[in-house]
Amino acid sequence: MTGKQGRLHVIAGCMSSGKTGELIRLLSRHRVIGDEIVIYKHQVDSRDGDKARSRLGTEMGAVVVSDASEITQGPCRVVAVEEAQFFGENLIDVVRDLLGNGCQVYVTGLNQDFRGEPFSIMPALMSLADELSLLTAICQKCHGVATRTQRIIDGEPASWDSPTILVGGGDFYEARCPDCHQVPGRPS
Ligand SMILES: [Zn+2]
Repeated sequence: MTGKQGRLHVIAGCMSSGKTGELIRLLSRHRVIGDEIVIYKHQVDSRDGDKARSRLGTEMGAVVVSDASEITQGPCRVVAVEEAQFFGENLIDVVRDLLGNGCQVYVTGLNQDFRGEPFSIMPALMSLADELSLLTAICQKCHGVATRTQRIIDGEPASWDSPTILVGGGDFYEARCPDCHQVPGRPS
């Protein structure tokens, strides 16, 4: 093996925990020293188009893709992937290849789905990480520390068996603490 291995930093957390803001903060350190940076986001995550935009008002340009196979390093030393839970299993191999090439890789994503269960490939990426940031939000009900993502469909807490991704549906999400997190129909 010649050359340096890359490093993987995973930024995980619930809805509204500031993952994109933290990503942009971390990437801005690379920008200061002139590293070339590319951010990828999945087309399912269509808000903000070809931008990664934080609630702090910071933003960086992003490349929208439909599959992890479209992720390439190009001339960049730093590659970031937003909302990794939307990608398939093949993102894991893509990340490993980038690391093998000496790339600095940053990944953001929801570590739990709306049921409070491990969310797709995020657990695998978190276990491969050299560095892990697990962010929290503020519970929209009690103002406690939120670690869960509440899903609401037509004004009611979404039931356990509602589909994980409802494309274009009437659902929305908010941050909740474990006490305020509701999942009707959870198997006991
Ligand atoms: Zn709460």
